[in-house]
Amino acid sequence: MDNLISLVNKIQRACTALGDHGEASALPTLWESLPSIAVVGGQSSGKSSVLESVVGKDFLPRGSGIVTRRPLVLQLHKIDEGSREYAEFLHLPRKRFTDFAAVRREIQDETDRETGRSKQISSVPIHLSIYSPNVVNLTLIDLPGLTKVAVEGQPDSIVQDIENMVRAFIEKPNCIILAISPANQDLATSDAIKISREVDPTGERTLGVLTKIDLMDKGTDAVDMLEGKSYRLKFPWVGVVNRSQADINKNVDMIAARRREREYFSSTPEYKHLAHRMGSEYLAKMLSKHLEGVIKSKIPGIQSLINKTIAELESELSRLGKPIAADAGGKMYSIMEICRLFDQIYKEHLDGIRPGGDKIYNVFDNQLPAALKRLQFDKQLSMENIRKLITEADGYQPHLIAPEQGYRRLIESSVVTIRGPAEAAVDAVHGLLKDLVHKAINETLVISRILIDAFVCMEETACFSQLVTCNGPELKQYPALRVEVSNAAIESLERMKDTSKKATLQLVDMECSYLTVDFFRKLPQDADKGGNPTHSIFDRYNDSYLRRIGSTVLSYVNMVCASLRNSIPKSIVYCQVREAKRSLLDHFFTELGKLEQKQLSSLLNEDPAVMERRTALAKRLELYRSAQAEIDAVAWSK
Ligand code: GDP
Ligand code: MG
Repeated sequence: MDNLISLVNKIQRACTALGDHGEASALPTLWESLPSIAVVGGQSSGKSSVLESVVGKDFLPRGSGIVTRRPLVLQLHKIDEGSREYAEFLHLPRKRFTDFAAVRREIQDETDRETGRSKQISSVPIHLSIYSPNVVNLTLIDLPGLTKVAVEGQPDSIVQDIENMVRAFIEKPNCIILAISPANQDLATSDAIKISREVDPTGERTLGVLTKIDLMDKGTDAVDMLEGKSYRLKFPWVGVVNRSQADINKNVDMIAARRREREYFSSTPEYKHLAHRMGSEYLAKMLSKHLEGVIKSKIPGIQSLINKTIAELESELSRLGKPIAADAGGKMYSIMEICRLFDQIYKEHLDGIRPGGDKIYNVFDNQLPAALKRLQFDKQLSMENIRKLITEADGYQPHLIAPEQGYRRLIESSVVTIRGPAEAAVDAVHGLLKDLVHKAINETLVISRILIDAFVCMEETACFSQLVTCNGPELKQYPALRVEVSNAAIESLERMKDTSKKATLQLVDMECSYLTVDFFRKLPQDADKGGNPTHSIFDRYNDSYLRRIGSTVLSYVNMVCASLRNSIPKSIVYCQVREAKRSLLDHFFTELGKLEQKQLSSLLNEDPAVMERRTALAKRLELYRSAQAEIDAVAWSK
C-alpha cells in the first residue's frame, strides 16, 4: 500500500523536475490529476502548526497576523531509518538544508522575494521537499489564511484575493481539503467549513481538524464537535493540541509537544474515549491512509488520462513535423532547393506569370514621361536665361558669327536636368524589384515547407494528410534563411541599381558631351540668321535674335528628351531587370559554398516558437511516459 503514495510522490517529483507545477499553461498538466492535500482555514486557526506536527519538524514561519503569504507545496518523502533528514527547495536545486531553522528563514525570504516585504500575497507556490525517516509520504499544501478585513498596508481586495486563491486550489476534484477550525470559536463562524462546504457540499473530500482545544473556555468542551454532532462530515473530526505561542517562544520541541498532546487527550476525562483518534500523530497516519485510498481509487482514471494525453502529445508533435535534414549535404540540398524555387518564383513575377512585373512598365510608360514633362524646358529657356548664358559664354569677346558656346551651354543646362527623372526611374524600378523579393520569399517558404514535409513523409509512411495540415499559420518557417536570402537578393539589387544609375546617367551625360550635328545642318536658313556675319553686331542681343536661339535650343532639347525617354528604360532593363532575372542569388551561392555545417544548420533553423513548442511537448511527453511506466510497474507488482 505504501507503494502507492511513493508512486504518486515519485510522479510528483518527476513533474517538478520536468517543469509541471500544475500552473495554467499551454501544456497538459499531470500534476493536477494527482491527489494532494490542501490546508485551509481562517488566519491563525493553526494551519501551519498542524502541518508542522504532521511533519514532526519545526520549519514553518508561524505566529499571529498574516504569516503564510504564498502557497507552500510541501512534499514529504520517507527515507530509510537512520538516514539524515534534509529539505530541498525547487527554487534552490541541489542545496540541501539540514538546519530546519534555515528552511523557515528561506521560506520567509522567498515569500518576500515574490511579494516584497509588504503584507501582500502571491499565488505563486513555493515548492519544498522534506526527506526524513520520520515522515509519512504525503504532499501537503499550506495556504494563506482566510481573513475578514484588510489590515494596514494591504489592498482592500486582499480578503477576496486570498479566498480566490484558496478556492482555486481546493475546487480541483483531486484535492483533499484539510479544513482547520479552532475549537475556541463557534463552528458556525469557521472559515474553513464555510469555504469547503462551497466546493465540496457532500463532504466527501473534506477532513475536519479542530485545533486549540486546550484554549477553550473553562466549562466548555469539544466533544460535540469531535463526535460530529455540531457539524457532520463524512469522515470523523480529529482534534489536536498544538504548541501555544508561549511554547514556541520557549522553544518547546516537537517531541515534548507530541507527548504533552498525547497526555492531554488521554488524561482529560471528556476526551478519554476519543483519545485513540486524536492528536497530530494520529492525524498524520490517518491522512496518509486516506491519501492511499484516494490514490487507489484514482489510479485507473489517471492511467487512462495519461494514455490519452500521450496520444495527444504525440499527434501534435508529428503535426509540427520533424526538424529537417541532419547532415551537411542534406542541409545544403534543402537550402539550394528553396533558393532555386525562390529564383523561379521571382522570375515568374517579372515575366507576368505572377503579378507585379507590370508595375515596372508603368514606370516607363507613365512615371518617367510625366517627370520629363514636369521639367518644362520652355520655362528653363526664358529670355533672361538665354541672354545670361549667351553673354556669359561670350566672355570678354562677343561672338562674331554664331554663339557656338552659348548654344552648348544652353543645351547642356537643360539636358542635365533630365538626370533627375532618369535617377528617379532607376530608384522606382529598384523599389518594385525589392517588393517582388519580399513577395517571392513569402510564397517560396510556404511551398518549400510543403515540399520538405512531403519528402520527409514519403521517406517514412506516406502520410500525405500532413501536406494539408502543414499549410497552416506556423509556416513562418526558417526565419534565418528567410532573412539571409532576402538580404542577399536585396544586396544584389542594390549593386544592380548602382550600375544602372551610372549607365543611365551616362546616357544623359553623353547627350551633353556631343551634339547631333545633323540637327543644326538641317536648320532652315532664317533661323540661322544669328550666324549671319552681315547681321549688325547690335542686333545680336535683341529679343527676336535671342528668341530664335531659344526656339532652336528648345526643339533640340525636346529631340534629345524624346530619345532619352526611349533609351533610359533600355538601360534600366538591361542593368536591373534582366540582371535580376539572371543572377539575383549568384553572390549568395558563392558565399553558401564557404559555410560550415553549423552555419548551414542555423540557416535552416525554424521559427523559435515552433522549436520551443516542439521541445516543450517532447519534455512533457517524457514526463507522461515515465509516469506511465511507473504506474504500470506498480500495477504489475500487485
Ligand atoms: P495559521 O495562521 O493558521 O497558520 O496559524 P499558526 O499555525 O501560525 O498558529 C497561530 C497561533 O496559534 C500561533 O501562535 C500558534 O502557537 C497558536 N496555536 C495554534 N494551534 C494551537 C493550539 O492547538 N493550542 C494553542 N495553545 N495554541 C495554538
Ligand atoms: Mg500559516
